[in-house]
Amino acid sequence: MATIPVARPTLGEEEAAAARRAILSGWVVQGPEVEALEKEFAAAVGAPLAVACSSGTAALHLALMGLNLGPGDEVITVSHSFIATANAVRYVGATPVFVDVEAETGNMDPGLIEAALTPRTRAILAVHQLGMPCDLGRILPLAAKHHLALVEDAACAVGSEISLTAGVWEPIGRPRGDLATFSFHPRKIITTGDGGMITGRDPKIMARLAKLRTHAMSLSTAERHGAGKVMFEAYPEVGYNYRLSDIQGAVGREQVKRLPQLIAPRRVLAARYHEAFSRLSQVTVPQEPAWARSNWQSYWITLTPQALQSQVEVMQALLARGIHTRRGVMCAHREPAYQDLPLRQPLPVSEYLQDHSIILPLYPDLTEAEQDQVITAVREILT
Ligand SMILES: *Cc1c(COP(=O)(O)O)cnc(C)c1O
Repeated sequence: MATIPVARPTLGEEEAAAARRAILSGWVVQGPEVEALEKEFAAAVGAPLAVACSSGTAALHLALMGLNLGPGDEVITVSHSFIATANAVRYVGATPVFVDVEAETGNMDPGLIEAALTPRTRAILAVHQLGMPCDLGRILPLAAKHHLALVEDAACAVGSEISLTAGVWEPIGRPRGDLATFSFHPRKIITTGDGGMITGRDPKIMARLAKLRTHAMSLSTAERHGAGKVMFEAYPEVGYNYRLSDIQGAVGREQVKRLPQLIAPRRVLAARYHEAFSRLSQVTVPQEPAWARSNWQSYWITLTPQALQSQVEVMQALLARGIHTRRGVMCAHREPAYQDLPLRQPLPVSEYLQDHSIILPLYPDLTEAEQDQVITAVREILT
């Protein structure tokens, strides 16, 4: 039986040729390809500056370090996200404070932020979950009013767009707050195997992030290599090895070129799912706010109380037909690693979405015939 995966990266001869070019150049550690990728990625999302790193998780960790967050600081974020979001807050020794999400978008509910603030609150870490832009139009003024830093976890959101001024659309990642972070994991829109990127506009912060990514070393390998005289480096603070290799950088540059062709088919497929499921009483579908254009990194349906089967029963029935799905976004606060963290607010919507949402197959090469198979199967199973 032919199976339909939940996601599939779009990689071709161009990426293979780029990797070959980097390999045969003799320079494979972070170097000119990554530098070019940073410039090309920044241009693609309209950001003044970008720093590449080894993963979306590393990007989050570096971003929070770059804003000098540490022990005693509280960071407002969502539990309803991949575990990396909350973990990054803990890497710097700060405390994540979770607020609930909106059912229609799966994103942070800005109306709940003020109740979660204390004198120790230093930042908001807002996620554009599954590519759906979060409500920056309401979050930005709150961050400004309370003098909080703002980091956008845009791991899934390259190519998504937001309109904060009527009629003007801009890509996610400019960034609107202080920094935005992206992931190049194969489940995301563009991939380098693993990889990440931070965008920002403060040259001082970005220069420090670039150093922290390579042990905070005062001189890069490329600088020493090209210096023409003997130079010794220094280590003014504790940094990390969060570099992206030049093989990955070369692949990433081809992926950035493809970006528009990766988003357009996703939007067509999402619209077809929307059409197929928006009138079924057994499920609700995600709602794109008027000011948001998702890249549809994922499409999900959420079972309503009218559905006769549970989430796992529906997923199992789809799997029996060769259709792979994933449960809705996890909640960090329900994991053993977070049992010691007291909740400041209940998170009923986050929990409902984790237990009732199902992520359906969606990727640029999914054919309409395959998608029709998914649609028919979901309808038959539910009705
Ligand atoms: C994937 C993801 C991350 C982590 O990215 P990696 O590249 O896998 O480390 C962080 N936050 C969110 C919201 C994600 O979806």
